[in-house]
Amino acid sequence: MDIKNVAVIGAGTMGNGIAHVFAQSGFTVQLIDVNADQLKKALETIGKNLDRQITKGILTEAGKTQALANITTETAIAKGVQQADLVVEAATENVALKLKIFQEIDAHAPENAILATNTSSISITKIAAVTKRPGKVIGMHFMNPVPVMKLVEVINGYATTAEVSKTIVALSKQLGKIPAEANDYPGFVANRILMPMINEAIYSLYEGVAGVEEIDTIMKLGMAHPMGPLQLADFIGLDVCYSILNVLHEGFGNPKYAPCPLLTNMVTAGYLGAKSGEGFYKYEKGSKELVVSGRFRKA
Ligand code: NAD
Repeated sequence: MDIKNVAVIGAGTMGNGIAHVFAQSGFTVQLIDVNADQLKKALETIGKNLDRQITKGILTEAGKTQALANITTETAIAKGVQQADLVVEAATENVALKLKIFQEIDAHAPENAILATNTSSISITKIAAVTKRPGKVIGMHFMNPVPVMKLVEVINGYATTAEVSKTIVALSKQLGKIPAEANDYPGFVANRILMPMINEAIYSLYEGVAGVEEIDTIMKLGMAHPMGPLQLADFIGLDVCYSILNVLHEGFGNPKYAPCPLLTNMVTAGYLGAKSGEGFYKYEKGSKELVVSGRFRKA
């Protein structure tokens, strides 16, 4: 199927990145968010990120102007999805919210439109089941930051048709990304493997096997990872890690996925990582230095 018009729902961290890559690849983008301020902020972020690409020599001024001209904003889903060939939902990670949004998209998007979700952990099959077109619902899991990260994890729900899957794989390549397909089971592939590693790193800290810096240094240098698992957890958000581990735990009914009690405590106390200013490390505005939180620093 020929895709030209794309509606992106949610203009947060992921939504602005997704709108950016589609617009830059020549698609017409309707960026939709309930929050008008968020739409304004998203356009500013997209402008800054396009500038960064110009500085790196991978985009021209004309390319930036064209990309921005391809994006329009909207606060109502019903209106924003009317002309869409593809809808990519990137709203807040909450099951009830996503089910409600998909019912609304389904009621207002053209009959042929493919409905994709960028969810990190919610079942594609469950989302598809509340629509009248379950065969056309699919996972399109971009990674953060979207303009930089190459992977799109394409998740086939139980009912997703082979044709829809083929279209989304081809489309991901058109965006300059590398798609990899997975079936719809808890955590798909990326988070099913990443989250237990992060949880195990937190257990190693909790049980006193090693300190924050040692754990991250061993994994970073020993496994050639760009950052250690504790720093990565801070970057993702400890609340997000906690909720994905709970999805794995409940979905598989296997205690090996239960969040470490230290992670539970940190989330309960509001220590959520970079976004709250402190997690395993402390984050000060403007500072790029990695400082271990006083709670874990050795005397
Ligand atoms: P975010 O909180 O930055 O943005 C969510 C946006 O959704 C907000 O701007 C909010 O106003 C908007 N929103 C909420 N309800 C809405 C509604 N009814 N209609 C329209 N907009 C609505 O969240 P995010 O980090 O961008 O995550 C979005 C999705 O992407 C989630 O499903 C998340 O699991 C997934 N994801 C996140 C990351 C990441 O690293 N942040 C990575 C991969 C996937």
